[in-house]
Amino acid sequence: VSALVVLSGGMDSVTALHYAATVHGRVDALSVHYGQRHARELDAARWQAKDAGVTWHDVLDLRDLGALLTGSALTDDVDVPTGHYADESMRATVVPNRNAILANIAAGVAVARGLDAIVLGVHSGDHAIYPDCRPAFVTALEELLTVANYDAVRVEAPFLHTDKVGILRVGRALGVDYSRTWTCYVGRDPACGACGSCVERREAFDTIMVRDPLRYVGDGTAVPL
Ligand SMILES: [Zn+2]
Repeated sequence: VSALVVLSGGMDSVTALHYAATVHGRVDALSVHYGQRHARELDAARWQAKDAGVTWHDVLDLRDLGALLTGSALTDDVDVPTGHYADESMRATVVPNRNAILANIAAGVAVARGLDAIVLGVHSGDHAIYPDCRPAFVTALEELLTVANYDAVRVEAPFLHTDKVGILRVGRALGVDYSRTWTCYVGRDPACGACGSCVERREAFDTIMVRDPLRYVGDGTAVPL
């Protein structure tokens, strides 16, 4: 089986990449610059794609599209909220129709290359806030790709019913280097430590009692912003 991983450079998609590389004969990766504040994720994506030994890694520049997807703290001049993902304030981090857009682009590339599947790093911790990370989305997407193409493209979401802690456990078993992933929504180095994405990541490392290799503001390893 061959697959194309939608690779942001964050923990989830990076772990999905390495997981896919162990279970599939061929793995490609696709990253998209849609104007997210944390574009440095793309540097992490490049490093990880090489580390995972992908056949092709493409970084697609869709910043013009991202500029039309206004209203999100990730792409627009809106403050990044702090706290937990479950908080209502996190809706500010929803990018309009993001995963449907990214998955359909990936599916087109997969069809063009004759690949069997696309791989998404969505997980259960995203379900509360992001409709396009829920099981219903994955099911509907696969149905769409089946009717939209002569050769159906499968949708794999290996962490759909797994949380961040589970992802971390899988990734550590696979030897993923999490110092080469980028999670923070703000996108400055060191990571803010307070946005929903940072909070979730730090809690996951705390839960498995492993030190997060990333530098955070105020953790004594870096100067504040
Ligand atoms: Zn952050």
